[in-house]
Order: sequence, then structure tokens, then C-alpha cells
Amino acid sequence: MSLNRPLHSRAYATVAHPRRGAAALLVVAGAALALCVFLVDSFTSLQGAVAVVYLVVVLIMAATGSRRAIIGSAVACMLLTTLAFLRVHGVPTLEPAMRCAVSLAAIATTAVLALRNRERMVTIAGQARLIELTHDSIFVRDMDDVIVLWNAGAEQLYGWTANEALGRRASELLATAFAGDRVKADAALFRDGRWEGELIQEHREGRVVIVSVRCALLRDERGAPRMILEAGTDVTARRAADAALVDSERRYRGIFDTARFSLWEEDYTLVVERLAELREQGVVELASYLEAHPEFIREAAGLVRVTDINEATLRMLGAHSRDQLIGPLDRFLPATDRTFGQVLLTVLEGNGLAEGETHMVNLKGERLTVLFALSMPLGTSRYDRVLVSVVDISDRKRAERALISMQAELAQAARVTALGEMSASIAHEVNQPLAAIVTLGEAALRWLRRPEPDLTEACDAIERVVHDARRAGEVVHRVRSLASKEPRQHVHFDLGALINESARLLEGELTQHHIVLEVDIARDAPMPRGDRVQLQQVVVNLMGNAIRAMSAVYRPRVLLIRGRASAEGLLVEVEDTGTGIPEHIAPHLFDAFVTTRGGGMGMGLAICRTTVESHGGRLWATNRSEGGAIFHFTLPVAVAEEVRA
Ligand code: ADP
Repeated sequence: MSLNRPLHSRAYATVAHPRRGAAALLVVAGAALALCVFLVDSFTSLQGAVAVVYLVVVLIMAATGSRRAIIGSAVACMLLTTLAFLRVHGVPTLEPAMRCAVSLAAIATTAVLALRNRERMVTIAGQARLIELTHDSIFVRDMDDVIVLWNAGAEQLYGWTANEALGRRASELLATAFAGDRVKADAALFRDGRWEGELIQEHREGRVVIVSVRCALLRDERGAPRMILEAGTDVTARRAADAALVDSERRYRGIFDTARFSLWEEDYTLVVERLAELREQGVVELASYLEAHPEFIREAAGLVRVTDINEATLRMLGAHSRDQLIGPLDRFLPATDRTFGQVLLTVLEGNGLAEGETHMVNLKGERLTVLFALSMPLGTSRYDRVLVSVVDISDRKRAERALISMQAELAQAARVTALGEMSASIAHEVNQPLAAIVTLGEAALRWLRRPEPDLTEACDAIERVVHDARRAGEVVHRVRSLASKEPRQHVHFDLGALINESARLLEGELTQHHIVLEVDIARDAPMPRGDRVQLQQVVVNLMGNAIRAMSAVYRPRVLLIRGRASAEGLLVEVEDTGTGIPEHIAPHLFDAFVTTRGGGMGMGLAICRTTVESHGGRLWATNRSEGGAIFHFTLPVAVAEEVRA
């Protein structure tokens, strides 16, 4: 079958296997012709010469495409030839026998050739069916670029039917443009007989399709180029996805490089493998394992590799080039920092996001306070591109600390000033009556020591002594009532809100010392009433003491504040896991000026007790057997409501 004629590939199958009706017609025609030949051969004088027409019968049968028809017709024709020969010649002589033998050989040879031709047609038909079945677009164009074969895949890809495409010039129909160099592509096709690449072509509707094509050059027997077979796959969607990916990667890069805050890309693969190893060794609870083996946190940080960082990170860590920072992460974490343990737990739980406050060390060895957010790749088993953003808040923290210490110093100065003023006013107010008492006492003595004591004058002076002593007493009483800070405002307030506000005031210290704050207020806790400002001072004071007591211990630091109903009204407990109250000061804990802190005034607890008692409550302290202290205070609800301004 020649490819010179434009052909839809489905046509090949029809040529190899004609339709049923046509085949039956061919068989009838062949049989009729054979009968005619037999009659002419047997009953006319043409004899053996006409037997040659049997070859036509075999060829007609071959056109049915049936193997059986070819063999059957050949055998029948040979039988009929022999029959006619015997009928005409009876006992054969050499010459007619030779003619008969030649006829028989010709029929057999024709049958063999027809069978071989049929085999070839069947093979071609099979290949044509394959072309039809493939999803790829396949078309064939001749050396003038005219399309001579067009399969269903090509119809699908380009939108043109076979009837529309056949006979048209491929490059015009498909507006083919080469993604690369066309001259090189043609050279490769003619040199190697094949070429693979990408073409930009047009669909019937005018939209662009990107096609990955494989071209093969078909040559004739003499080696001259005859046809080009072009098989193609539509890669438009894939290329669009690739382009979107490239675009998204470019945008990500842009954001990564230009962000004003520090960004890190880190590879956690080795850590994840190490955690898997631990699991295989039977470690089920990583949290308790980390508690028991804090050194593992450091080891794991050493397994994390920093793979990329942005400009802001260079500035933050004081580096000149990226190479200084690429490598293990542990170089930038302080040896004692345990925040990385929390990150490991997040990795293990596959939570996706870990964030918090921690410390880092820059290249000069300076400690930075930073906020970090780490996002693990979700739903993937790849951990080689973990993104971490870091914000340096060291300056803010420094300012906060300076503010807190300034406030503390101010408060202390205010207390000292207040004490000073108080003493000055006591001295001033009491000094006058005291001076008068001394003068009057001396005068009375003088009146009494006279040779004739003047009792009236003496009594008069003593009466004035008593009067001035009373005045001094009143002054002292007034000063005392000032110092006792009697409550002024009385309102109902929410204990939870008061604790939250106090926690906010102390947030910096809680974070700095890695203290976990727990608040547990029972449902039946009565609502307290009193001077909210003064009672908040009590809570802040007790919390501040607890924080200071825990800053020196290495066990978990937990500050627990409980509120519940008790026989005496509302009971509040401030419990810590710190050092506990030193035995030697326990009996005088609430006395003024009792302190174990250098720089402490020892006034805090004394004021707290005065405040609580002025509300009608009690304040006392106990030590926990496991270490740490509990400060308890009550506010009798009914009494608190009765307290007057
Ligand atoms: P200051 O804090 O100025 O020392 P305070 O009256 O508040 O004054 O505290 C007195 C002392 O009581 C502290 O120096 C400390 O020794 C002890 N103390 C107070 N609270 C606690 C606590 N939660 N745990 C252990 N000791 C405490």
C-alpha cells in the first residue's frame, strides 16, 4: 500500500479486510468464473490455454482477504484443471501433460504469492489499528508538507477532522512555530532520521497548544526521503503548571530575599531520621525523654542544617556572607536554651507550626532575644525545606527591662521618700509637744523645788504637759492610720481579670525566667469586693516574690494561682516551685524590713498583710514538701462588703 495517496488511517483496516457483503460478492464472482473456465476448458478446443484464467480466480479470492478462500480456490482450480485435462485427453501424451503441469504450477505459485501479500496487508492493518488506538496525535506529511495521514489523536489535539486535514499543508494548518532553532531541527531529522522537541501550534479554535513531538523521516527503497511521521503529546497544561511553579518560586525568592525580617531555610531530614531511630528504640514519650536527656536537644540542634538565609539574617547575626551562616544550627542557639525541645515535639507531632520566644547567639557571641515562627511542610514526608522567620526583639526587651527596673527603683525611691516624709512629719509634729513637755516639766520641777513650792503653778504646768502629751499621741495615731492604708474604694471585681492584669504587668519577667503561669479559679469562688488597686498590689507583690524565688531553681517553673470558696469567704493561693521560705525568717516573714534579698526592703509582705487585714482577711504562708512556697489570703466576702471608705 502506498502512502502517496492521502489516507485516513482507518482506511488501512478496510483494505486488509473488506466488508462482509463485498467479500461474499467476490466469492460468488470467483466461483462463477472458475465454472466458466472449467466448461470452456472441458468442452471447447481451447483446452489448456484457458486454464491460465484460473489465476484470475485465485486473485479475485485473494481480494476477500481470507486465507481459506485463497487456499480453497487454488485447490479447486487445480482440481478442475486436472479434471478437464483427463476428460479431454484420456491417456495423456507428454506435451498436453506438460501444459497441464505448467498450469497447475502457475495456480499454486499465484496462491502462494497471494497468501504472502495477504500476510503483509494484515500486518499493515494491525499497525494502522495501533495508530488509531493510541492517544497520541499521529499524522504523516509528505515532502511538500501535505498531510497524508491523520489519526483520531490528531483530531483530538488539533480539533481538525481527518477529512478537513488531509491534503492541507501541516505548517499552515497548525501555524507551527518552533520553540527552538528550526534549521537545527531539520538538520537533525535529515541526518539521524529522527527529531524530538517542542512545537508551538494552533488549535482549530485559534488557541495555542504546546506539543511535545517526535518526528521520524520515512525513506523509500532507494533511501530518498518520502514522508515525515509526526507523533505528538499535548503538554500545554504541564507547561502552564511548570511556568506557574517557576513564577511562584520566583515570587517566593523575591519575598525571601527582600523581607525586612530574618528568614531561614533549614533541613530537618537528619533530625527526623534520628527521631525515627529513637522511636524504633522504644521511646514513646518524647517530652519525658527530653526532660530526662536534655543533652539530646543540643544533639538534635546540631543535626539541623541551615541551607539558606536572607539579607536581614546577615544583618541580625552580624555576618558578611551567607557562607558564614550555612551549616549546623546549634552554633546560633545558646547552650542552655531548651526552646528547641518544643520545636522537636512539634516536628514529631506534625503540627506544622511552632512559634515562641527564644534566644539566639550572634557571630560576636552576643545573646539576642527573638520571636520565631517555624512552619513544617504539611502532609509531606520531606523535611529539607523548613521555613523559619525570626524577629529580633532584643532592643525591645532591653527597653522593657530598663523600664521595669526604673519602675522598681522609682517605687523604692517613692517608698524611701514616703518613709522619710513620714519620719520628718512625725519628728516635726511630735517634736513640738515633746519640746513643750520638756520645758513645762522643767518649769514644774522649778515650781516644786522652790523653798516654798508653788503648787498652783506646778499643777498648771503639769496639766499643760498632759495636754501636750495627748497632742503627741494624736499625731502618732494620725500617722499610724495613714500608714495602715485603710481601703478607700470598694467595688465588686473579677478575680480572674485581676490576675490576668497582674500577669500582664509581669509578662516580661515570666517569659525571661521561662515560668509557666496556671490560673485555676473554682466555679463557686465568691466574687470579692474591696479596693481593687490595693488588692492588685497584693497579688502583684506575691507573684513577683514567687518569680524571684523560682529564678534560681532548675526544676520546672510553675506559678499556680488558685481561687476558691472557703469557710472564711474567698481563699486565694499563690503557689510556686521556687526555693521555699528560708527557715530563719519564717517566724518574722510579715514583719517590716525582713528580707533575704540584697537591695530588697522587706516591706512587701508587711504591706500585703496590712492591706489584707484592713479588708478583714488573713494572709499566711506555708512551704510545699516538694519545694516552693504557698501564700494564702482570705477575703471574707460579707465583711469585705461592709468595709467603708
Ligand atoms: P523583699 O521582696 O523586698 O525581700 P518581701 O517582704 O516581699 O520583701 O519578702 C521578704 C522575704 O520573704 C524575701 O526576701 C524572701 O526571703 C521571702 N519570700 C517572700 N516570698 C517568697 C517566696 N514566694 N518564696 C520564698 N521566699 C519568699
